[in-house]
Amino acid sequence: MQSLLDHKFEQGGVILTSVEDVLNWARLSSLFPMGFGIACCAIEMMSAFASSYDLDRFGVLMRTSPRQSDVIIIAGTVTFKMADRIKRLYDQMPEPRYVISMGSCSNCGGPYWEHGYHVVKGVDRVIPVDVYVPGCPPRPEALIGGILKLQEKIRKETLRAPLAALELQKLEQA
Ligand code: SF4
Repeated sequence: MQSLLDHKFEQGGVILTSVEDVLNWARLSSLFPMGFGIACCAIEMMSAFASSYDLDRFGVLMRTSPRQSDVIIIAGTVTFKMADRIKRLYDQMPEPRYVISMGSCSNCGGPYWEHGYHVVKGVDRVIPVDVYVPGCPPRPEALIGGILKLQEKIRKETLRAPLAALELQKLEQA
């Protein structure tokens, strides 16, 4: 589709594509993440959204409400106390929704994996994770890499998956 969009149609022309490709392209080009910084990884996440790295150029704009977000970035140590809040916020996000786990703590418990009695050993025990970003902490470039991976995942999605998830969400709310 990219090559077609690059083509110049000075004399008018036709673009051939599918509804799925157009919708996926629109969705992956306008990701609105809800940042959920809960420990030191959050500093790197904030840096990724600041002017030096400028995530806006990918169409990625931070939101502060789960109702306006389609991605949640879990950046930091997930304690058992915080796990309930994470699940509640995730449930408030509209479908289709995605999760990026940023850093070792969120991926698997990090430095607390063995003796951290208060730490959940991976946020994927609470909500489903689409992309894991390794590091302690990951640099902003690594988070940007994770977002690009998520965009690639969305590019290959069929409409059936988001529509089925939407139907499921409606049934749960009924
Ligand atoms: S992974 Fe490392 S930098 Fe990130 S929250 Fe855990 S201890 Fe802090």
